[in-house]
Amino acid sequence: MRDPLAGLPRVTYANAAADFSALHACIDTHWPAISATLVGGEQAHLIDGRADHSGARVRIASPIDASLNLGSLPMADPGTVDRAVQAARRAAGGWRQTPPLHRAQALRRVAEALHDARLELAVAAVLEVGKSRLEALGEIEESIDLIGYYCDQLEASGGWEQVLRAGPGGESGHDRLRPYGVFAVIAPFNYPFALAIGMSAGALLGGNCVVLKPSPAAVLSAAALARVFTQAGLPPGVFNLVCGDAHTGQALASHPQVDGVAFTGSHEVGMSLLRQAAAAAFMKPVLAELGGKNAAFVTASADLDVAASGVARSAFGLSGQKCSSCSKVYVHASVRADFIERLTHVMAGLRVGDPRQAPTFTGPVIDTRAGQRFDAAVQSARLAGPATLILGGERLTGGIFDAGIYLAPTVVADLPADHDLNRRELFLPLLSLQTFDALQEAIGDSNRSTLGLTAGIYARDQAELDLFDDRIEAGVLYANRASGATTGAWPGFQTFCGWKGSGLTGKGGLGAHYVQQFMREQSRTVARR
Ligand code: NAD
Repeated sequence: MRDPLAGLPRVTYANAAADFSALHACIDTHWPAISATLVGGEQAHLIDGRADHSGARVRIASPIDASLNLGSLPMADPGTVDRAVQAARRAAGGWRQTPPLHRAQALRRVAEALHDARLELAVAAVLEVGKSRLEALGEIEESIDLIGYYCDQLEASGGWEQVLRAGPGGESGHDRLRPYGVFAVIAPFNYPFALAIGMSAGALLGGNCVVLKPSPAAVLSAAALARVFTQAGLPPGVFNLVCGDAHTGQALASHPQVDGVAFTGSHEVGMSLLRQAAAAAFMKPVLAELGGKNAAFVTASADLDVAASGVARSAFGLSGQKCSSCSKVYVHASVRADFIERLTHVMAGLRVGDPRQAPTFTGPVIDTRAGQRFDAAVQSARLAGPATLILGGERLTGGIFDAGIYLAPTVVADLPADHDLNRRELFLPLLSLQTFDALQEAIGDSNRSTLGLTAGIYARDQAELDLFDDRIEAGVLYANRASGATTGAWPGFQTFCGWKGSGLTGKGGLGAHYVQQFMREQSRTVARR
């Protein structure tokens, strides 16, 4: 299909507040036809280049409106997982021997196919994850740039092969990075394209074949993605897809012929996969990018309008369901009242609603469990004291709000430092505001989290910026951004590395050291004959 968005401005996470009226008009025109082709069908696994329908069928729900019929997905059992792994194994020899620069060319074709399918893919993410139009389109654009960036890295390195020093007697030596074989790629629901594509592209560029297991809440997107990979002409078996839940993921990660696992998701599941791998006869790589408990700091020298915009966008975008969502804001006592006033003003302009509609900033949360977590969180904040809940706190009702779970952006203040809501990742539109007198102490309190993904600061005082840079324990830092206090990383501009419990390898996605993690080093010495 011709790209209907050709000639229209690109959406990135940093420009989401720009005027996209022409883009929205285009989406309005094409939406009915695209959504009609996407929904209602029976999705399938992709094994060895062919659609495979094995397994019990489960209805695909839309968080926007429980009555929407998005179709069904098959749940892969261990037998289906085994067939996908065997297909990947069979393809692994040929893909490993494909010269690295040819692998990059193949992935660049995937990026082109993604570009042409941008609108279809974005519609899938809106319908099944409840993303706003701009969040969904931004994610596809990110995925395209991400592939390009990883290809650039591979091409610049010439495939990570180098000559070593000559040894005694004229021995020659080479060092090279080589693929492991077959990677299981297990992805979460909230970025159904960027994460599935990022991990898969890393594995494929590294010369591995892939079996992708997406979240059961993101199967329309994964199936659309599988079509893109097929269309781009990857050999059968190089990229495979199995649909299913935690049981499918478990069968895949523990399959004896899987050589490595790339996982993005919760800390709990990531750590369980690591422990499982460590209990085996030898350690296979587990590349895991996990949750966050991300804080922003607003000092007395901050531009409070910029701070309020950045904090609100990061706390409530995608209804708080980003690993990088801002979940705590530490505000200097002297600007607390002014900051709350501006935050309230910004929040009033961020529309919660049906994400299919143009003006919607954020839509529903993903499922009933998220709704229950919200109710419990609000209840525990209320129990902490009558003045704790300062904004929001309720489920929205009436019209589309009765068809899904739509939550009011919520701010709680002055909870005890070690209150559960200040320590646990919530993945909800709930921001905890803490007041501080000394920035150093606020940073110290934030660092007591076992997680360390992203963090942001608003300050004009250079000493405060320097203190934050020096002390904060997180892998992705931002200063003075109106578009997002803790969110909005983009390939080539920010790397995305979780410190502490937010990641396992000390190297992040979107960065220059990512693809190499899917490869292992081998040196080769040849004596002179
Ligand atoms: P999740 O951990 O529940 O599930 C992630 C994936 O793992 C899904 O495909 C799921 O089916 C599968 N899975 C669940 N249990 C499994 C098991 N025992 N064995 C194998 N596979 C299993 O996460 P989610 O709810 O889909 O996503 C939200 C989480 O992901 C949050 O914690 C968020 O912070 C994190 N996340 C992290 C990043 C990052 O880059 N660091 C990005 C996005 C999301």
